Amino acid sequence: MTLVDVRTPNPKNFFPGEDHDWELVIGLEVHAQITSNAKLFSGASTEFGKEQNANVSLVDAAMPGMLPVINEECVRQAVRTGLGLNAQINKRSVFDRKNYFYPDLPQGYQISQLYHPIVGEGEIAIQVGPDKEGNFESVDIGIERLHLEQDAGKSMHDQHPTMSFVDLNRSGVALMEIVSKPDIRSIDEAKAYVNKLRSIVRYLGTCDGNMDQGSMRADVNVSVRKPGGEFGTRCEIKNVNSIRFMGQAIEYEARRQIDILEDGGKIDQETRLFDAVKGETRSMRSKEEAHDYRYFPDPDLLPLEFDDAFIEEIRVTLPELPDEKRARFISEGLSEYDASILVSDKAIADYYEQVAEGRDAKMAANWTINDLLGALNKAGKGIEDSPVSAGQLGAIVDLIKADTINGKIAKDVFEIVWNEGGDPAKIVDERGMAQVTDTGAIEAAVDAIISANPDKVEQAREKPSMIGWFVGQVMKETGGKANPKAVNELLRKKIEG
Ligand code: ADP
Ligand code: MG
Repeated sequence: MTLVDVRTPNPKNFFPGEDHDWELVIGLEVHAQITSNAKLFSGASTEFGKEQNANVSLVDAAMPGMLPVINEECVRQAVRTGLGLNAQINKRSVFDRKNYFYPDLPQGYQISQLYHPIVGEGEIAIQVGPDKEGNFESVDIGIERLHLEQDAGKSMHDQHPTMSFVDLNRSGVALMEIVSKPDIRSIDEAKAYVNKLRSIVRYLGTCDGNMDQGSMRADVNVSVRKPGGEFGTRCEIKNVNSIRFMGQAIEYEARRQIDILEDGGKIDQETRLFDAVKGETRSMRSKEEAHDYRYFPDPDLLPLEFDDAFIEEIRVTLPELPDEKRARFISEGLSEYDASILVSDKAIADYYEQVAEGRDAKMAANWTINDLLGALNKAGKGIEDSPVSAGQLGAIVDLIKADTINGKIAKDVFEIVWNEGGDPAKIVDERGMAQVTDTGAIEAAVDAIISANPDKVEQAREKPSMIGWFVGQVMKETGGKANPKAVNELLRKKIEG
């Protein structure tokens, strides 16, 4: 791969050193497990959390004489992902054997695609931010390729004092390896990239993106250089399985490389491991010890070939992706900030769209982001477990819109629905929470406050902002249920004369 620099150095991204600032160069190889009932070359189940070695066919155990058979659904999923990444789909690709010995690899080789991957160059637009003004910077990160490959099994060294065991449930599960170009320039960009990639595959339904279950993990390539200078020597940190760890690993690795270079040393190209407990990376092997995998085309498998019709058939079923959705939300009146938050997770976007259906978009977004997501965050819950449904939140928005309740009472209604469930309109009705719009009742309260505070009335005539104090008093008097607009109008009329 020839490295081409497509980025203009941005001081915002620079990493401080002792002598001068440095620029990080990062490229990610993300392994994403394909959502599919069966494995890449066998009919064994891919269900997560099954008993050890429950999901193993003769192919996955590499019994002599076994023959791999390509799972067409996995091919479709890879093409679907390629289309979602605006990438070149290669109508002909080839499976290669990558030969190495490891106890969790019974075949003695992994079937992968080295020279002719199923998907070529593409692009992901990431949004970095928000900054203090709530703005996002959009950056395009190049995709080098996406190829299909098998996952390996898992060695277990903690089950027995003198023996190691092997679990082959993952053996042969279909992975997409998605390789970025070295276009990433900061930890924030790397995080935004993985978040965006995860969101895209989740929208597409091609990978569940669950990093904690190992469905998505990243090899993180890091080098440093003088801003805008030649590319430096990179180190590759293997198998990072959370976005937070990735940030820590890059930070540590950049510091380590900068310290070496500033001391006049040079970086050895090597593969490193991130130790999450110590928060540091350590060497696994150097380039000199790197394996020679003796890649060659797998003689058990024909090249993968399909036509334009196959691609088009998939293209027409693509859902609206996060970028398109964000643009639509903005055109429907949302700020870039609100739209970005809502589209980041498909489940959140779906929820919001239900709340917004036939209602004021801005109001629906405010309630979804500030109240619902705020409460979920505090309770440590995901949107799937929200105690308040989109229908219930929509009903609360309707009550505000109809002037049945004001914004403050609406928060109380939200809390009741959150804790006890129920129909918001009924709750408001039964508990007498409806706004007092009866001007007679409001006027009585206004008059009482005015006559009890003649001195404050004088002050308010000099200083109109004092009206706020009167509004507060009237609200108190009416249990927070008065229509604030009506109260304001009446007070102004009576005080200003
Ligand atoms: P390999 O397969 O040996 O790991 P590749 O050429 O496929 O090598 O590159 C793997 C990853 O390393 C890619 O994501 C690429 O963007 C990234 N990369 C390449 N050069 C650099 C560099 N100098 N600094 C940081 N990342 C790099
Ligand atoms: Mg690599």
